[in-house]
Formats: sequence, C-alpha cells, structure tokens
Amino acid sequence: MFVIALTASAQNRMTPERAAGIKADLAGQIDAMKKQAQVMNDTVFSFGELGFQEFETSKYLTGLLEKEGFQIERGVAGIPTAFVATWGQGKPVIALGSDIDDIPQASQKPGIPYHAPMIEGAPGHGEGHNSGMPLNILAAMAVKKVMEREHLTGTLKLWPGIAEELLGTKAYYVRAGLFKDVDIVLFAHVGDNLRVTAGPGDRTTGLVSVEYTFKGETAHAAGAPWRGRSALDAVELMDTGWNFRREHIRVGSRVHYVITNGGDQPNVVPSNATVWYYYREADYQHVMNLWKIGDDMAQAAALMTGTTVTSRLLGSAWPGHFSVPIAEDMYQNITKVGLPQWSAQDQALAKALQHDLKVPERGLAIKIPELKKPQPLSEDDDNGIGGVGGGSDDIGDISWVVPTVTLNYPSNIPGGPGHNWANAISMATPIAHKGVVAGAKVQAMTILDILTRPELVDKAWDYFRNVQTKDTKYQTFLRPDDKPAIWLNEKIMEKYRPQMKALYYDPSKYDTYLDQLGIKYGEWK
Ligand SMILES: [Zn+2]
Repeated sequence: MFVIALTASAQNRMTPERAAGIKADLAGQIDAMKKQAQVMNDTVFSFGELGFQEFETSKYLTGLLEKEGFQIERGVAGIPTAFVATWGQGKPVIALGSDIDDIPQASQKPGIPYHAPMIEGAPGHGEGHNSGMPLNILAAMAVKKVMEREHLTGTLKLWPGIAEELLGTKAYYVRAGLFKDVDIVLFAHVGDNLRVTAGPGDRTTGLVSVEYTFKGETAHAAGAPWRGRSALDAVELMDTGWNFRREHIRVGSRVHYVITNGGDQPNVVPSNATVWYYYREADYQHVMNLWKIGDDMAQAAALMTGTTVTSRLLGSAWPGHFSVPIAEDMYQNITKVGLPQWSAQDQALAKALQHDLKVPERGLAIKIPELKKPQPLSEDDDNGIGGVGGGSDDIGDISWVVPTVTLNYPSNIPGGPGHNWANAISMATPIAHKGVVAGAKVQAMTILDILTRPELVDKAWDYFRNVQTKDTKYQTFLRPDDKPAIWLNEKIMEKYRPQMKALYYDPSKYDTYLDQLGIKYGEWK
C-alpha cells in the first residue's frame, strides 16, 4: 500500500512548462466561476452566524460540496456545525480550512462607508469570515477538474474553523485526530492584501479562555445581609487582584475579562456570579503561568468572601508557526496572480471608510508586500518584556501538528479596527468578490505544486521536524475532561435569527446581495 502511494504521487510529476500551462488553466477556470464566488460569499455574509451556531452556513457549504462529489462527515470532534469534506484518493492529503463564524454586534449594511447596522445589535461578518470557505471551494473545484483530467492522485479535505472568534475548536480537532493523515494544511484568512507568513506568526499569541463561576448564598440585601455570601464580591476581588498584578507580569502579557453574570437585582445578595478571562502570552509555558496566577486569585477571592469557585475552559490557542517551504512556494504563486484590478468605486468606498475612521486615506492595496523572512523567537525570558502582544488564532494548534500556512487575501479595506462593523463593509461588495477570486487562484496553484512536486512535501516535513519542532513540542492546553463550549452564543442567535432570516440572500431573485438590500454600489449619502 505504502509503495503504491509513493509511486502514485511520483506519477503526478510534470515538467515546469506543463505545470505553468495548468496554472494558467486554473486561473482561467476560477475567473469563469466569478459568479459562484459572489453567490457563495454573499450567501454566507447574509447568514451572519456566531461561533458554534453556524448551522445555516454549515448546511449550505456541505450541500455545495456534496454536489461536487465530496464525502461529508458531519459533527466532527463533537461539534455540531463542524465537518470534513473529502474528495480524491491517496497521497498527498491536502487540507483546506477557513473560519466561518462572525462577530457580536457587527451587523452592517455592505457598501456603505459609515456605521449603518442591518439589524441593530445583531451579529455580523465584522471580520470577513464569510469569504474564506467560498475561496477554498472555488480552488478545490478548479483543482478537482484538473486532477480528473490529468489523472493526478491526491486527496482534498475541506474543513471549517468553527467559533474561531472564541478560539473554540481547533485544539479539539487536533485532539480528535482530524489531521492525522494530512500532509499539508492550507488555511485561508481574510486580510487587506495577498500575503503569507513564513515561520513564527507575526504578533500572534497563545491563549486560554477560562470562565470562573462563584457560588455564595442569597439573602435580603438590606434586611439580613449578614446571612448572604456575595458571589459578585468574589468576582470583583478577583478582578481587582488582576488589575494590581498587571504591574508585576511581563509587559507582553495580555489579561482581559468580562463579567457575564453579576447577579439579578440589588436587593438580593448575588449567589451566582461569573467572570470570563482571556490569558494571552508568547508561548505555552507563559500562558500556563498566567492561568495558574488566575486560578490562585479565584481561590483567594473565594476564601475572602466565603464563596466557592469552579472554572471551565472555553477556548484555547497556540501561537502559530508556519511552514517556510510552503510559504515560499505560495509566495511565488502570489506574485504570479497579483492583486485584483480595483475599480474607481472600490477605491472610493475604501477611501470614504478610511475618512470616516480617521485613518490615512490610502485606499485599497496596490502593491504586494515582500515575503517576511522568519524572525527568530526571542530566547530572553528574563527581560520582563516577552512577545509584543497581539491577537490569537487557533490555527496555531494545527500548525504545530502538521505543516501549515495561512493565506491572506484582499477582501477587506485597510485601516479597520478589526472585530467591528467597519470590517464588514466590503465583505459583500466587489472588493470581497475580487479578493476571493485572487486568493482562490493562489490556493489552487499552491495545491497543484504540492500535488506534482513530492519534494515540496518532504521539505515541509523536514522543516517541521528539524527546525520548527526541534526544541518546542506541542502540548495541548485541553485537559482530558474539557469539551467544546457548543452552548455559547445560542441565546443571542435565538434572539436575532428570526429578523436575520428575513434578510438571507436570495440569488434566484437578486443578482447580488447589494441589489437585494437596494444599495447602489458607489452611491451613498
Ligand atoms: Zn479571523
């Protein structure tokens, strides 16, 4: 079996000229699927589902993939909206992923360069996760045709990032063994340029997301306060403890919290209170150190108030580390594909939004950045600074078990604050559609390289084994009893879904989602 697999993948070899011809063909095919790109992108935008509640999105995407002949495995890793769609046979196995969840309170009309919610208070694609799986599906459809025609062996697996905004699932995917037989992971994430990172992630941190629930005793807050034990007091003492402690941890540490339950009404001593913490640091050990401090503080706050405390893990992420050989190959394809041709309206929308946000009015990207060379990680643990601090993405966990890269593609407008309505504005407009088409070409060409050049897979694993994981071994943040927090966001979606349903995109009636919403692209008040 092993021998057959080896010969099979060697059989995929082709001359550089032939490969270049096929790449041109892939680009042509993807251009011809522009309409599908727009429909898929706008449909997912209109679903606007929060993490763990991506039921419509998941149903829609698996439906499309099933029609294309993919085998679907649903509910993987104990997560109802997760799936793996598989097509093809043998090696190499290439897994294409992208996130599909959105952001609370980011509802926004597309194509309008100022805050204009579609539904006040509702969630929306204020990061642009509506575009990544459509990109992967386009790339897979084009590559599949070529594989059939050229008799290339290999397996494509498409999978969604569920609840990425909560760092909710990818560590569970790893624990469930989803990437056991995978050779390379190509992840796609929306950005404002065509870009790929080689080596350690740029300003990404590791994280654990931990919820603490304190339990006390209710009593009449005026009539018999001595009989009560306030769980809210414990939450406040824990938070106060952290706000003093901040001075005495590494500068690069990030600790933030929200109080999700502070009691019912002032005349009842709160017997239940909950606070939710994110602990972020540069690496596994420093994240674990913060978590330990937090647990100690929770215990101390319980002691001070005569309450008890329990905690649960709601999410986690390793800092990312991306395959240098695959990133270098992808970068070649990025320069081949180039940035989209932006129209005057595209640029006008971008500049109008930048004006509204009071950031430099530089419009959309017109130059591809250099491939950033991997930065050696600072070994100096004792300088009190650590990493610079930044966001986290649970693709990090996957990047430590299989060679992985993340492709950024230019569907968003530069200068947005992130996790915000402003980042939703371009996401169902020609800017997003063009970014998806450009990204799909890069993705498809890189898949072709992996299929036809077995040495690329070898180089990726050589880097993975002998450089990336030489001194750092992956250890999951998950404890054996931790489970995906699939109940999160249920109530918010229940509240808004009926109103949102009325605004789902109907491509049989309207050419674009902008048409359906009655928004004239390039015209706004
Ligand atoms: Zn994201």
